[in-house]
Amino acid sequence: MRKTKTPRQKIRVNNRWLLKRLIVFGAANTYGLKMTDEEYELLKSSIKPRKKKTDRQKQIVRMDDMCSEIIRLRALSRVSGCEYCGKPKTIKQLQCSHFIGRGNFHTRWDLDNLGGIDSHCHMDLDENPEIHEAWMAKHIGSKSLDNLVTRSRSTDKVDLDKIEAFLKESLERWRLEG
Ligand SMILES: [Zn+2]
Repeated sequence: MRKTKTPRQKIRVNNRWLLKRLIVFGAANTYGLKMTDEEYELLKSSIKPRKKKTDRQKQIVRMDDMCSEIIRLRALSRVSGCEYCGKPKTIKQLQCSHFIGRGNFHTRWDLDNLGGIDSHCHMDLDENPEIHEAWMAKHIGSKSLDNLVTRSRSTDKVDLDKIEAFLKESLERWRLEG
């Protein structure tokens, strides 16, 4: 059953992936990659067309982007950097971390649920839920944390339009202040 692969085949697999990406981005010719027309056509035909995003999916991406910018601007105004370790960071070095995961739409764009932190701390907190929870209790206060958890358990329908309007307005305010 066990197939032994030679390193050459391994590289070939990686190349295939890379070649496909280069074809998708129209860069295969630019880089003058060595392949026959036949190989090119074969690779091209094996690339699955990307599924078009629905309007709802597009809206969610827009909301995530706005939310992330708000949270990072907020972190800069609060501590000029990472809200967890306090180290100075630029907006590009900050990420938007979720305490209750993104899968929960009741709290995905809830500003209490989010922190502007650097990639290192982001990974640490995601890997250590207990530490994350203890930090959240300190960061937003245990009462707010309790309320956040309650909101996450809501059974109400999530009104994306309403949340998006709120995010838009908040972002405009944060950009003016920044
Ligand atoms: Zn940090």
